[in-house]
Amino acid sequence: MRSVVDRPIFHIARDDRGGFGAFAPNAEVDAVELDFAQRSDGCGGFAQVSEPECVRHYTRLSTLNFDIDRGLYPLGSCTMKHNPRLNEAVAADPRFATPHPYWPEPYLEAHQAIMGELAKDLAEVSGFDEVCLLPAAGAHGELTATFMMKAYHQAQGNTAKNVILIPDTAHGTNPASAAMTGFKCKNISSGPDGYLRLEDVVPHLDDTVAGIMITNPNTCGIYERDLSRIADALHAKDALLYMDGANFNAVMGIFQPGKLGVDVMHFNLHKTFTTPHGGGGPGSGPIGYVSKLAPFAPGSGTKQSIGPVKAYFGQWGMYIRAWTYIRSLGGKGLREVSEEAVLNANYIKARLADTLHVPFATPSFHEFVATDKGFPNDLATIDLAKRLLDHGFHPPTMYFPIHVKGAILIEPTETESLEELDRFIDAVKAVRAEMETSPEVVRTAPHTTPVRRVNEALAARQLHLRWSVGDE
Ligand SMILES: *Cc1c(COP(=O)(O)O)cnc(C)c1O
Repeated sequence: MRSVVDRPIFHIARDDRGGFGAFAPNAEVDAVELDFAQRSDGCGGFAQVSEPECVRHYTRLSTLNFDIDRGLYPLGSCTMKHNPRLNEAVAADPRFATPHPYWPEPYLEAHQAIMGELAKDLAEVSGFDEVCLLPAAGAHGELTATFMMKAYHQAQGNTAKNVILIPDTAHGTNPASAAMTGFKCKNISSGPDGYLRLEDVVPHLDDTVAGIMITNPNTCGIYERDLSRIADALHAKDALLYMDGANFNAVMGIFQPGKLGVDVMHFNLHKTFTTPHGGGGPGSGPIGYVSKLAPFAPGSGTKQSIGPVKAYFGQWGMYIRAWTYIRSLGGKGLREVSEEAVLNANYIKARLADTLHVPFATPSFHEFVATDKGFPNDLATIDLAKRLLDHGFHPPTMYFPIHVKGAILIEPTETESLEELDRFIDAVKAVRAEMETSPEVVRTAPHTTPVRRVNEALAARQLHLRWSVGDE
């Protein structure tokens, strides 16, 4: 039998029970009965529950998910760091939380000054000439940038440039953004040591190449040491270098892409600058770029601008958090963030060297990729991930990057203590030992979570998210 916890609220509803109602006996408008039977979408109306039932139902639901406030969340490529409560306090201040973009200009002066400061800070830490805050996520930053790259080539009269090179280490959003802009994507392989070598790129550099999209450090956590040389080769052909900056947490205060040949890059404020996924709101993916791309940026005020990409000011709530974060740490603090993120990842990597197979000997930055090679009894990455849940940890990223078979991508971030890192390492070692001694326990995990192992392929194909009348 399913527990009360995972039944939809409609199952505890009773017609004779209701919550708080707002009665306005002197209201000058007539009450309107909502006629749910008229709705074409089959919605059976609101569940009738008392206030305590309602509060308890949703409070219970809120405890079922794993979250960053509960424990280590080593999801590679996502930078699931702690959300400082100071950011939340500042963002909740009514002076920051209530402004509306339609307010008259003078009332928004302080907010615009803060956005200006944030853009300047991001430009400084990345070495770019300009920053546009508007894009609403990393992928949206990519899309904005690829449109700017296209506009740049059109302005040069380079209409033959219609190909974007995508290394095998790329996040899926990179080819998606390029394709949505109308570019053709050409996949290229990185070298045997896990990074893209100049000689992997040069053979592809013909007159059709508009640019390349490189993540740095890449999605194996490896620094792209040929980046500047690749930039020179591209620029010699008037092609552009896009850097996916999702992994910027590894290099703040250490490496400035704008000074080393990168033409345009996106930041993930919701990774690097706190407020990670589930951290209290939407994302934000500002882009930094060199001055030759500036006329094409949204809001540049020139005829060559690609036009608006987001209404009003963009994700203000994320700006105020990122601005607070940068101000509370300062330049030195940001560098320490990256140094500790790199140290934590390498600590885990070193302590797990005898437990997980690591495919590249190349040094790691803020994350490292391991694989399930050598797991006994036909067990695989997914089994390690599921069993870790029973040990109280969110699993690492699984099966990404896709060119590494059975990938396990581990990113602890800088906000974890040594004790927590040790607990995680011990849990991985314990699961690895269980794979030998009690493989069935691992194969059927998780055993302690509200939902056990589900058929993920089926769940994706036959997604059933809405309760309707008659559903059990
Ligand atoms: C997260 C991520 C993205 C996409 O960012 P979103 O904000 O999720 O759209 C792109 N590239 C890499 C390498 C990422 O890790």
